[in-house]
Amino acid sequence: MDSQAEPKLEIFFFPYILGGHLIPMIDLARLFASHGVKATIVTTPHNVLLFQNPILRDQQLGYDIGFLALNFPAEEYGLPNGCENELTTTNGDMFTKLFMAAMKLQDPLRKLLSQTRPDCLISDRLYPWIADVTDGLGIPRVVFDGSGCFSHCVEESLRRYAPHEKVVFETESFLVPGLPNQIELKRSMLPDYVKAENVFTHFLNEALECEIKSYGIVVNSFYELEQAYADYFQKDMKRKIWHIGPVSLYNRTNIDKVERGIKTSIDEHSCLSWLDSRDPNSVLYISFGSMPRITSAQLLEIAHGLETSNHPFIWVIGRILDYSSKEKQQVESVVLPVGFEERITKSKRGLMIRGWAPQLLILEHPAVGAYMNHCGWNSIIEGVTAGLPMITWPFSSEQFYNERFILNVIRVGISMGNEDWVPLKEVPRVTIKRDKVAHVVNRLMGCEEDEVVDMRKRAEEFRDKAMKAFEKGGSSHSNVHAFIAELKSCRKISQNGH
Ligand code: UDP
Repeated sequence: MDSQAEPKLEIFFFPYILGGHLIPMIDLARLFASHGVKATIVTTPHNVLLFQNPILRDQQLGYDIGFLALNFPAEEYGLPNGCENELTTTNGDMFTKLFMAAMKLQDPLRKLLSQTRPDCLISDRLYPWIADVTDGLGIPRVVFDGSGCFSHCVEESLRRYAPHEKVVFETESFLVPGLPNQIELKRSMLPDYVKAENVFTHFLNEALECEIKSYGIVVNSFYELEQAYADYFQKDMKRKIWHIGPVSLYNRTNIDKVERGIKTSIDEHSCLSWLDSRDPNSVLYISFGSMPRITSAQLLEIAHGLETSNHPFIWVIGRILDYSSKEKQQVESVVLPVGFEERITKSKRGLMIRGWAPQLLILEHPAVGAYMNHCGWNSIIEGVTAGLPMITWPFSSEQFYNERFILNVIRVGISMGNEDWVPLKEVPRVTIKRDKVAHVVNRLMGCEEDEVVDMRKRAEEFRDKAMKAFEKGGSSHSNVHAFIAELKSCRKISQNGH
C-alpha cells in the first residue's frame, strides 16, 4: 500500500426515528459512499434491519458503507420490543415514549464516538444535545433534517421579526418579512409552539442553537430550486449550507426505488401494470406521507370528491386516526362510501393502496400527471423530481411553510385550502368537503386553464434541472465534492494542530 495514500474520509450518519427523517438520511449516506467516503449509519438494531438490504447491495457494488447499532431503551419506556421508529407505533402514547427513548441515545452515542472518532458526524436536527456530545470530542458536526432551505428561512424570519404577534385574528394574513419572495401566512397555519411557548418550543430552540453552532447544514434539495433562499441563508443568516439533492435520485434501479426501508403493501408489478393501462398524465397520485393524519370522516369526503371528479387515481391510505378512545389510536378500519372500492376497481378508475406504496416508482411513471400530498419536504422534492404539479394539503409541522414554497416560489401547485395547523395529538377537523376536493382535482387534472398549463411546464423544467443538478458536473454533484474537500482540509488542519 502507498504509505502516502490519504486515509478515507469517514462520516457517521445519525438519523432520527421518524420515517420521513430516516429514509432521506439513508439515501444521503449511500450517496456519500458512492463518492468514495466511508459511510457509517448509526442507528438502532431494528432500524438496521429495515434498511439492511439496500446497504448490502451497495456493499456488493464495492462501496464502503455499513451500520453501527446503538441499543434502544424500548423496554425502559414500556415500548414493545422492536418499536424503534414512529412507523411501528400504534397510538399517541407510544409516540411520546418513543420520543423520550430517542433522547436517551446521547450516552451510547458519546461512548461510540469517543471510541471511533470519525472525521464528521451528520446528525438529524432533532437531537438537541448533539453539540454536547461532539464538541468535547472535536468532531465536526453537520445537520441534516430532510427539509429544504426555504422552511429554515421562514422559521428564522418568524423568530427575528415575530410578524404573527402583530395580527389579532387567526384568519388574518401577515407578510413574512425579509424573504426574497412575498410570502404570506395566517396565524392558523403556524405551529402552536411558535404562537405560544410550550415544551416543544424549548426543545426546538435548543435544537436550533445546536444547528447554529454546527459546521453547517446539508439539505435534500438542489441549488436551482431555491437559489434565492440558499443565498439568503448564507449571506443574510450567515450560515453554511450545501444543497446536495434530490437524494432519492440515488435510487436508480427498481429494487432500490421499491425497497426504501418499509415493505410495500402492493407488489411492484401489479402497481406498474395498472399504471401501464392508463393514458399519459391522466392519473392523480394521492399520499399524505408516512404518518397518520387523516380521520375516517375526512377520508369519506375525499372518496366522494374523487368519485365526482371522475379522474383516475392511486390513493395511498396509510394508518387512519380514530379518536373514539381517549388516546389517539391508529386503526386499520376505513369507512368508505358504500360500494366505492368495487366501483373503482371494476371500472379500473382507481387503485387503493392500504399501507405503504412504492412511491418513487409511481411518481416517475408517465401515466401519473399530478400529486396530492401533505407538503412533507420529501414528498415535495420527490414530486418536483418527477416533474409533477401538485395539490397541496398541509396539516402539521412545517408543512404550511412548504406549501407557500410550492404555491408562491416555484409555482407548481394548487392549494386544497386547508388553513388549520394541528398538533399530532389533536383531532383534526374535517376542513375540506367533497365538493372542494372534486373542484380542485378537476382544475388540475382538467389541464385546460392557461395557469395550469404553465404550472405543468414549470414542473417539467424543474424536473430537468433536478436531474442535471444530480448528475456529474451538476450543482449537487459538485457540492458533494466541495463538502468532502472541505472536510478533508479540516482534517489536515486538525492533524497539523492549527
Ligand atoms: N413514503 C413511501 N411510501 C408511502 C408513504 C411514504 O415511500 O406509502 C415515503 C416518501 O417517498 C417519502 C417519505 O416516505 O420519502 C415521507 O416523507 P415526507 O417528508 O414527505 O413526510 P413525513 O412522512 O415525514 O411527514
